[in-house]
Amino acid sequence: MSKTFHILTYGCQMNEHDSEKIGGMLNSIGYEEIDNNKADLVILNTCLIRENAAQKVFGKLGALKGLKRKNPNMLIAVCGCMMQKEEVRKQTLKRCPFVDIVFGTNNIHELPDLIRKAQIEKLKAVSIIENTEEIHEDMPKARKYSHKALVNITYGCNNFCTYCVVPYTRGREKSREPEDILNEIRDLAKNGCKEVTLLGQNVNSYGKNLSREYTFADLLRAVSEIDGIEFIRFMTSHPKDLSDDLIKVIKEYDKVCNHVHLPVQSGSTKVLKEMNRKYTKEHYLELAEKIRREIPDVAITTDIIVGFPEETEEDFMETVDLVKKVEYESAFTFLYSPREGTKAATMENQVPEDEKHKRFNYLLDQLYPIVLDKNEKCIGKTYRILVDEISKSSDEFLTGRTEHFRLVHFKGDKSLLGKIVNVRIDSAKTFFLEGTIVDK
Ligand code: SF4
Repeated sequence: MSKTFHILTYGCQMNEHDSEKIGGMLNSIGYEEIDNNKADLVILNTCLIRENAAQKVFGKLGALKGLKRKNPNMLIAVCGCMMQKEEVRKQTLKRCPFVDIVFGTNNIHELPDLIRKAQIEKLKAVSIIENTEEIHEDMPKARKYSHKALVNITYGCNNFCTYCVVPYTRGREKSREPEDILNEIRDLAKNGCKEVTLLGQNVNSYGKNLSREYTFADLLRAVSEIDGIEFIRFMTSHPKDLSDDLIKVIKEYDKVCNHVHLPVQSGSTKVLKEMNRKYTKEHYLELAEKIRREIPDVAITTDIIVGFPEETEEDFMETVDLVKKVEYESAFTFLYSPREGTKAATMENQVPEDEKHKRFNYLLDQLYPIVLDKNEKCIGKTYRILVDEISKSSDEFLTGRTEHFRLVHFKGDKSLLGKIVNVRIDSAKTFFLEGTIVDK
């Protein structure tokens, strides 16, 4: 009988895609995925970006401890960003001595050897690679969907924003060779994939470490040539590196979705400097204006951190001002929480929690009417939508996203999953739209 595994993934799309690679590696050695803790191997793919993500991991490990007591043959593995940080790794192993396997973001390919070590040699298998130039192209992937796929284009980050752990947990930036990326997407397309999301911590700096000149815009042009791929998305764009050429490609190439996720983090130039973001409020506003001017039907979304150290009321109001000026289609908003090992965690003048919450709520009060107003402007329009999933609220409803990344609910049969349909928008809420499938 084949062995089973279960993966719990915390955090971002990078982690989600890493879990697909872990699944692929496990399938290749005969493991089958199941959706519960009764598996022979339970893996926690962890995140360090938010404090509560780490707390959830420890909570889950506590629950697994009891299961392991009942079934000593069960293996427990912890991987991902938390394990790349030495202090957190040591803390995890001390608090949870029943964990059998620990690996990081740079050595998923070692997993079969680590399992062997834990299973046959009955040893605790811990292996971490701190920083590496190597990219393992040959890893199999157990993809969650066949109609859409996440595709890494870069790994790591060189930007060292002062609040962020990524350069320490995922190492310095490295770009995959264009042909490796294009071959992966050609294969996906041959197997029915219609949408790809190109992933990088900063997709706009793609190609900088390649031996020949090749930019992210060049890559998008090449992906657009691949038959079968209908929607091309990408995540994330750093405002300091977004080129005019990229704007031109989004504008001219139909398959490249008219959506730019452009994290601003703060509207105060002073705070941006403290964050080491390397742009000013003015630069960001000019960039957003240029994108809107060149691509009138574009959606700009963002990430905002509220209550960064040293953020005064005046600084915060600069963020509110920027939000009103850019008129975002959507924004992910976060309360700043210090991450150990980052420069920002040691900064003086941390903003008190109650003040952070007050500012956060005020920001949402300003943001949501803008988002709703933009969503209401979609009513009556028809969008081509790739049918993604059955709605969580009712199995009579399906969901998908417009090219602008708006979530849409519409009635339909599950046989439409993975197909492209035209959906007319009938009503709008702040976080989603509702529509009806139409012929055209
Ligand atoms: S760009 Fe900044 S926030 Fe994004 S991953 Fe790199 S260091 Fe972190």
